[in-house]
Amino acid sequence: MGMRRLGVMGGTFDPIHNGHLVAASEAAAALGLDEVIFVPTNDSYQKTDFAPAEHRYLMTVIATAGNPRFSVSRVEIDRQGPSFTADTLRELGETYPDAKLFFITGADAVSNLSTWHQYPDILELANFVAVTRPGHDFKLPAEVADRVPILEIPAMAISSTDIRSRVRENRPIWYLVPDGIVQYIAKTNLYREVW
Ligand code: ATP
Ligand code: MG
Repeated sequence: MGMRRLGVMGGTFDPIHNGHLVAASEAAAALGLDEVIFVPTNDSYQKTDFAPAEHRYLMTVIATAGNPRFSVSRVEIDRQGPSFTADTLRELGETYPDAKLFFITGADAVSNLSTWHQYPDILELANFVAVTRPGHDFKLPAEVADRVPILEIPAMAISSTDIRSRVRENRPIWYLVPDGIVQYIAKTNLYREVW
């Protein structure tokens, strides 16, 4: 048996939506991943108007529960403080020493890779892979363009920002997020009031 191939999908997941799930599923199929670990960020000091980490974590668990290859990690939440992908990849590398890590990121997120904490060393910690996202072009730093493959995935013009405004404005979010997330948001009154 070869090395286990582990995908890592980081995000605020505020809330998780079908764009995230399609990105992870497509990356898993294209890269032959054995598992994709979703890693919700800890509460950001810059984003106090967003949902608390425990809500974002639970929604990520609910949305991924049905897929035997998806799991959710609390490393960033439990580490407390600002969430840096470099710290997370190092920690996951220690937890799974026999795995090959693939960090999955969307066009928008990867485009400012050169501003990330511990760039460019972070590129040594996982194989980065960038998925297409409607409305976002790639602006990969020239020196990494050949190290970050771009994966074309079905266009899902969905963002958490749009989901939050829809909830606030009483517009539907059905089919943009899993049914369990529609129900969880309704039950908890998330995004209707400012946190
Ligand atoms: P927000 O609008 O709050 O920024 P978001 O929809 O961008 O939320 P994030 O949690 O910020 O979601 O994103 C986590 C990761 O998922 C990032 O790498 C992002 O590029 C990627 N991603 C998010 N939505 C999509 C989508 N619709 N298609 C492809 N990738 C996506
Ligand atoms: Mg985003």
